[in-house]
Amino acid sequence: MSAQKNTPHVVAFAFPFGSHPTPLLHLIQRLATASPGTHFSYFNTTRSNQRVLSKANLHVYNNVKAYDVDDGAPDGHVFSGNPMEAIEMFIKATPENFRKRLEDVVGETGMKATCLLTDAFLWFSVEMAEEMGIPWVAFWTSGPTPVSLHMYTDLIHSKFKENGNTKDQDQTLDFLPGMSAIRVSDLPQELLHLDRPFSRLLYDMSLALPRAAALVLNSFAGIEPIIEDDLKLKLQKVLNVGPFSSLTSPTPPSDDQGGCLSWLSNQAPASVAYLSFGTMLTPPPPELVALAEALEEKQIPYLWSFRDNSKRHLLEGFSERTKSTGKIVQWAPQLQVLAHSSVGVFITHCGWNSVMESITGRVPMICRPFFGDQMINRRLVEDVWGIGVGVEGGAFTKSGTVAALDLVLTKEGKKMREHIGKLGESASRAVAENGSSTENFKSLVGIVVSSHSV
Ligand code: UDP
Repeated sequence: MSAQKNTPHVVAFAFPFGSHPTPLLHLIQRLATASPGTHFSYFNTTRSNQRVLSKANLHVYNNVKAYDVDDGAPDGHVFSGNPMEAIEMFIKATPENFRKRLEDVVGETGMKATCLLTDAFLWFSVEMAEEMGIPWVAFWTSGPTPVSLHMYTDLIHSKFKENGNTKDQDQTLDFLPGMSAIRVSDLPQELLHLDRPFSRLLYDMSLALPRAAALVLNSFAGIEPIIEDDLKLKLQKVLNVGPFSSLTSPTPPSDDQGGCLSWLSNQAPASVAYLSFGTMLTPPPPELVALAEALEEKQIPYLWSFRDNSKRHLLEGFSERTKSTGKIVQWAPQLQVLAHSSVGVFITHCGWNSVMESITGRVPMICRPFFGDQMINRRLVEDVWGIGVGVEGGAFTKSGTVAALDLVLTKEGKKMREHIGKLGESASRAVAENGSSTENFKSLVGIVVSSHSV
């Protein structure tokens, strides 16, 4: 496409941490395929772009271009390893870093922005969009429950701020629509301690979301019906367009340098434990050791995505002794792994993308959440959908992990597989022709593309 002055120009801003930037880019790629006459600009920090774009195949789209924005870190800064440090520096650099880059890009290309489609966290986009007289579409990378909780921040905070660390961690949030399974202990810290920059960002987001032309989610209708209905009362438009993992077009390239898929093909059906804790975390050393001991004792074939080289030595003896039954890789093509018939259980931190991918692959989960929305997702997986189990005591011990493996691979596993089979079918129906997510996606195309006439 040759971009011209009056070409519709959708500008996407990514939140450059964890798995946030990738689903936004996938959404842009889908929109770019659906609307070849629209130009899409994807803004992300240099560091995050290096990681995300290497797996993105962007060169096949002639209407998508990626741009780097400043991450707020001084030149040569050495990060402490605490993820909050980088997040807070980035927050400090916003919105000026995005605003400045957007001005440059509009100047260079001559194409004014006609729609801002940004990570919902970047709430200031609504102010930029309103200044330009164009719509803001917010993309929420997690499920409906966490965003709904944010919409009740004031109420939750006033009720629990004194006992955020509390005596009554088991108290449920049954005073909120659709939240009767959620407990105080599941709440992200950002809802209880509002004085930190990241919490403030999310609070401001909750105030800004009603001004968004639409909230787009990587989820599917019916998965949390009461919450979806409640969100619809508060927001202009709620568009579930997922799960992204069920979509085949365009197919994300599989990055299988470790040979996971061929290894899986030599394993028995539903026998393998797949382990991954997402893009940001590694369980603490005692838990890694306990996990390895449990796998070894049960002689369970395993595929472990393990990126943290500083902790690799903890698994050395284990991986040597179990090399005929297990495989440790730096990165696994998780979507394809979870879709493989040999995988019987997913040991996960319950990041939303991982949960969606497990539902798509119909693989029950053993859950060890750490922070953010992960505890909520675990609660849904275990208590609402019955498609997995949390580890006893909330952290991996050898006996707790053995018990969870026994439960999922033998005793309760059949029931969980039935439940996840049904959810997986709903997900497939949602993204099929005329399915709810497909129709919502068409509405989204309408919003972002017709916005140039606003
Ligand atoms: N992922 C992957 N291979 C790996 C580890 C992770 O493809 O070896 C992908 C996974 O498929 C998912 C994302 O990384 O799409 C992790 O997202 P999630 O929301 O589960 O966790 P986060 O990284 O945000 O904590």
